[in-house]
Amino acid sequence: MPELPEIEVLKGEIKARVVGRQIVTVDVSDPNVINMSPEMFASTLAGKKITGAGRRGKMLLIYLEEGLCLIIHFMLFGRIRLSPEVGEGAQVVLNLDDRRCLFFSQLALGAGVHLHQGEEIDSLPQVTKLGVDALSRELDFEQFTRMISRSKAKIKALLMDQSFISGIGNTYADEILFEAKINPERSGKSLGSEEILAVYRPLKNMLVEAITAGGAGSDDFAHLDGSKGGFIPKVHGLEDKPCLVCGLGIRKTKVGGRGTYYCPQCQNYFRRSG
Ligand SMILES: [Zn+2]
Repeated sequence: MPELPEIEVLKGEIKARVVGRQIVTVDVSDPNVINMSPEMFASTLAGKKITGAGRRGKMLLIYLEEGLCLIIHFMLFGRIRLSPEVGEGAQVVLNLDDRRCLFFSQLALGAGVHLHQGEEIDSLPQVTKLGVDALSRELDFEQFTRMISRSKAKIKALLMDQSFISGIGNTYADEILFEAKINPERSGKSLGSEEILAVYRPLKNMLVEAITAGGAGSDDFAHLDGSKGGFIPKVHGLEDKPCLVCGLGIRKTKVGGRGTYYCPQCQNYFRRSG
């Protein structure tokens, strides 16, 4: 599922490759993923130029003329592609004036392409409920410490909670905690100052590294041209594979209902830093 780095990568690609293009026609084959009638959706978008791109948490924004904005929730499997030909399973297709099309597929379980007035975006419930952005300067170490040390929740669940910090999902939460050598089941409250710093550092650095690498190299993410990213996880999705640090098998458990991967030795529950 695309997380903050993947959405940043897509945002950059929209800016570089799609901004300035005009939408000629729109095809909607799955009305469930849009927020109005297909006729209204298509007639509102037809003739509009794409003017920019943005991000809120793990959602991609595509700005259009006349103050319009598409807000895209990918959820677990959603895809966006730019191609001369419409791919299989396309649910929404924006046909552009250079004969390419920008199309969306695999949108399910709450995913969608919603059209709004740009000024509405920051008052939508799905946006107002977002916590501080993981890349925001507002999230400095003092702020992070205050937030973490008050909470009885498990650190993994805290990192994934979009109303707490927005942008981090299941993959990067596992990777950040592996880098920090912190067990995902530890509560926020139980972490000492050095341990909080051990989480904070990779939280900031890894997301930037992943953006530079072009996003996740997994099958769940693709660039606009369909190519993969270059960020390779060290624990996430790697059950029973040897830990790159100690060689012990990576374990899988569940935290906050999500599959969670960790090294039982490097991220020992009782290990204390310092
Ligand atoms: Zn290990």
